[in-house]
Amino acid sequence: MTGAPRTTNTPNPPKLVYAFAEGNKDLKDLLGGKGANLAEMTNLGLPVPPGFTITTEACRAFLEAGREPAGLRAEVDAHLADLEREMGRTLGQPDDPLLVSVRSGAAFSMPGMMDTVLNIGLSDASVAGLAAQAGDERFAWDSYRRLIQMFGKTVLHVDGELFEERLEAAKRAKGAASDLDLDTADLRTLVAVYKDLVAKEAGEDFPQDPRVQLDLAVRAVFSSWHGDRARLYRRQERIPDDLGTAVNIVAMVFGNLGPDSGTGVAFTRDPATGKQGVYGDYLANAQGEDVVAGIRNTVPLAELERLDKASYDHLLRIMATLEAHYRDLCDIEFTIERGTLWMLQTRVGKRTAEAAFRIAAQLVDQGLIGEDEALRRVTGAQLAQLMFPRFADDTGEAAESAAAEAPVRRIAQGIAASPGAAVGRAVFDQETAVRWAERGDRVILVRRETNPDDLAGMVAAEGILTSRGGKTSHAAVVARGMGKTCVCGAEALTVDPVQRRFTAPGGVEVAEGDLISVDGTSGHVYLGEAPVVPSPVVDYFEGHRSAADDEPDGLVGAVHRMMAHADRSRRLLVRANADTAEDAARARRFGAQGIGLLRTEHMFLGERRKYVERLVLADSDDGRAAALESLLPLQRRDFAGILAAMDGLPVTIRLLDPPLHEFLPDLTELSVRVALAEARGDDRAEDRTLLAAVRRLHEQNPMLGLRGVRLGLVIPGLFAMQIRAVAEAAAERLREGGMPHPEIMVPLVGGVQELEIIRDEAQQVFAAVAAETGLDAALLSFPVGTMIELPRAALTAGQIAEAAEFFSFGTNDLTQTTWGFSRDDVEASFFTAYLAAGIFGVSPFETLDRDGVGRLVALAAEEGRAARPGLGLGVCGEHGGDPESVRFFHETGLDYVSCSPFRLPVARLEAGRAAVMGDAARGGGDTR
Ligand code: PEP
Ligand code: MG
Repeated sequence: MTGAPRTTNTPNPPKLVYAFAEGNKDLKDLLGGKGANLAEMTNLGLPVPPGFTITTEACRAFLEAGREPAGLRAEVDAHLADLEREMGRTLGQPDDPLLVSVRSGAAFSMPGMMDTVLNIGLSDASVAGLAAQAGDERFAWDSYRRLIQMFGKTVLHVDGELFEERLEAAKRAKGAASDLDLDTADLRTLVAVYKDLVAKEAGEDFPQDPRVQLDLAVRAVFSSWHGDRARLYRRQERIPDDLGTAVNIVAMVFGNLGPDSGTGVAFTRDPATGKQGVYGDYLANAQGEDVVAGIRNTVPLAELERLDKASYDHLLRIMATLEAHYRDLCDIEFTIERGTLWMLQTRVGKRTAEAAFRIAAQLVDQGLIGEDEALRRVTGAQLAQLMFPRFADDTGEAAESAAAEAPVRRIAQGIAASPGAAVGRAVFDQETAVRWAERGDRVILVRRETNPDDLAGMVAAEGILTSRGGKTSHAAVVARGMGKTCVCGAEALTVDPVQRRFTAPGGVEVAEGDLISVDGTSGHVYLGEAPVVPSPVVDYFEGHRSAADDEPDGLVGAVHRMMAHADRSRRLLVRANADTAEDAARARRFGAQGIGLLRTEHMFLGERRKYVERLVLADSDDGRAAALESLLPLQRRDFAGILAAMDGLPVTIRLLDPPLHEFLPDLTELSVRVALAEARGDDRAEDRTLLAAVRRLHEQNPMLGLRGVRLGLVIPGLFAMQIRAVAEAAAERLREGGMPHPEIMVPLVGGVQELEIIRDEAQQVFAAVAAETGLDAALLSFPVGTMIELPRAALTAGQIAEAAEFFSFGTNDLTQTTWGFSRDDVEASFFTAYLAAGIFGVSPFETLDRDGVGRLVALAAEEGRAARPGLGLGVCGEHGGDPESVRFFHETGLDYVSCSPFRLPVARLEAGRAAVMGDAARGGGDTR
């Protein structure tokens, strides 16, 4: 993400306000997404209500200084005067008021997270003028009460519930079911009630001066950038906190002027599946906020054809224009005012992972974009989502859950708003969702509809289920943005948030805590834990399904094409972290070009612990040698299996790393066992000896203690045994006609001297095995390298490279030792607090900390290569499979990333994207 331009000390003050005609779609950082796209549509000649945009730069200046920057008022004056001239009336003019909306719009879409105020310009003086002009008194008073309500809540910070209560009371008094049943007199009374409420709660009157309304609304929108909801959303979406929002001031058009008016949202393709067609929702006689909030039920957009054919045809033409212009799926908000269509917003639309891949492939086929651009438009995170299991196609009435004994029943069908298979306990409010998730429960947030206040609960939940609202309701839009499973508009459900329960047809009652399953791909809702099946994309990577068999426009075919292009484009190789022959075989199917990390400690577990015990307890050289001797053939067999599975490809074998006590019994348990045995009088000598050894090896900070290369240096023969097992396994493979390429990797080196000793030992072992087997010494001489896991190793990389043929960055330990974060403790103990405080937006164990750990990586890479040209460079920490980090490793010029087999496709895709992004940044390729 690029930051917005900063304020600099330029002699000419920056321009703070842009008329729509002055902007364009590429000015998002300055005008926000909404403003930039309104400008683009204006310049395309599409029907956009006139208006102007106050820049994000003005917002940043306001937030910094706490007041409007110098010059802003004069610029707003000038643009408002232009707008008034164009519209032929002035803001709030009593006999014919110009009304405007004041809308937030940041560079990155943050749906519903910041504030908007409509109908600015209405007052006691102008309400009658609006009534006369519209020929509709009720409409004018309804608009006025909406203004006071929105302004009161957003600008004057009056609790929104208090307005709702008064509205409900007015309806009750009238016996009215909906706001539409309130007449002019009721609304007049409500306006008076609202004004009293504002005076009482805010300590000031609702302002009657339209310009004061406008200025205060602009300030409120600026300030909403720092609202709690907006901050939380940004942290989730990794949007920088210092960008600020633009503010759009737009002449009002009304969708609530009668049955020939209305408002809607539309997509040029289905954002859930990517299919081309007419998708969207329409609500007659309503204002825009009513649709997104999901408060009233909408009709499908196709229905508009029947209601107003001319507007429908016009809209379709505009959609075609927009899609061809943006060369992507666009989402659109529009209003029809008495038969005239107005475009209120467009943007390149959010979409599901499945739709992203399909659309990218379709647009290539349609010749709208090239393959590089298609690759840029899909992400590793989306691919990862497609690799999750799904619910079995049709669980049906009587299916048995695989995981639980209880039968699973389908209880409702809603709208498939955001795909995925989510299982969890039903919760009915965001506080419970957060609390339960923190204690480790999977939860599904069930609401009638969501609003921005539910955000923390949506983040905490596995999935979201609502009984109202369509594909464009708040729940749907936000869930899709987060990649979270969502079914909305399950109208057969009656949700009672107060009693914390919902009922489904047939008298099914679901209470808080009951397990439910939500299928965001089909819209099905199940009682119980529904069984899941593997994803077709994983089947494809496994080789069980071929792209050629896929249906036209199918998902697997689209994934295949993106992967093929990524593989053609990427410079980074991908290797796997794998410890068994089975993992190695799967890794190869998933595209591994070798093994970047084989953790040999995994070969010392189970049955083999006893040999490690013997090694630790040995009190003589002979005893130690015997213990090592018994481990040798086992290790040799392990290595031979893996070298066979990865024949022809490099296999980086890491010598034993963890502290030895990890292989011994737990100190407390053993102490208790010995104490009990002593009390019974049948204590065993070996247990006592073992206890003494466990005590001797006990460390306060084992991750900083006797582990890694230190073990190899203090336990004679341990590393030599492992190296011999590798060399003998390789010799065996060579005799069988294989092509083994093992590499010996030494962990936790901090100084070159440590590595030199092990390297010399390795070379002696290689020579000895060559002599014993009669094989050519050159064939049995393998690269010896080191992990870079300690800041000192990174800082002395130039020296270490003298003794190392390759570096592999162990970014797990490097993050631990750079930050001083115990990797086994901190994520559970205080990372939640750190994330909440915004100290980082994502755990540095998940995404590489470029500024700190990344600098060490870059420095070591540069100084290592300077000392030894051709030094191999890879990474094998968890970051090797993280999309954002892969991009960094590409930029830093590493040779490969290594990650768990399941993450290999993501690493391949991201490595390809990093390569084509680099090309775009250098001016090659097309951009959005
Ligand atoms: C690392 O530290 O990044 C690494 C790969 O080693 P381990 O996770 O086994 O300590
Ligand atoms: Mg490590």
